[in-house]
Amino acid sequence: MEFIMSLIRKLFQNSSAKDVKVEDMTGENKENKPKLKLGTYQYLGDRGDTSEAVAKLYEMENKTKRKEFFEDIKFKHASERLEDEFFFNLPHENKHLLDLLEELNKYTNRNFKKPILLTMIFRTRAEQDYLYRNSAKYAKKKFLSPHQLWHGADIRSHSFTKSEIDQIEAWINKKYNSKNYYKWTAKYHTVGSGLHFHIQFVKK
Ligand SMILES: [Zn+2]
Repeated sequence: MEFIMSLIRKLFQNSSAKDVKVEDMTGENKENKPKLKLGTYQYLGDRGDTSEAVAKLYEMENKTKRKEFFEDIKFKHASERLEDEFFFNLPHENKHLLDLLEELNKYTNRNFKKPILLTMIFRTRAEQDYLYRNSAKYAKKKFLSPHQLWHGADIRSHSFTKSEIDQIEAWINKKYNSKNYYKWTAKYHTVGSGLHFHIQFVKK
């Protein structure tokens, strides 16, 4: 029994939150802001570090329910990984970001008759390294992306007109900035892979 308990403790130690310094996409240092709460801001490292067993436990319930609710949402290349991250992981890692994406999908459907298409949710350290492989700033000091913490999601923008893009960006920021740990919530920008909406949200 003691052995099992120590094993469990060890497992939890390995997956427990590290004191991470989060920089948002503007590069603003959050070090002097209030400390992140444990549990909400765990740095999970590479995808291999997440508990597949836990994800599996929730698999059927969440995926079935969410898919019914969210039948028109699209995923880049119909990616199974993105679907898994959206339906299995996000409900546990960052429910408020999931709620935001649900609201956003309703908004774009209602106003423009178009669903959202997700192009990225979680990003591993290796993927972050690759994305910034040509960045001198990153070479000097590796910074974390909100995507590595389940704080970010990217939405395809080219299915929307310029006017729609402006409206979407303004709507998200107006609705969420005051509740967000980050200074801003949505930005239409390009990082590596073309123009898209980057969305970052952690409820204050
Ligand atoms: Zn992004």
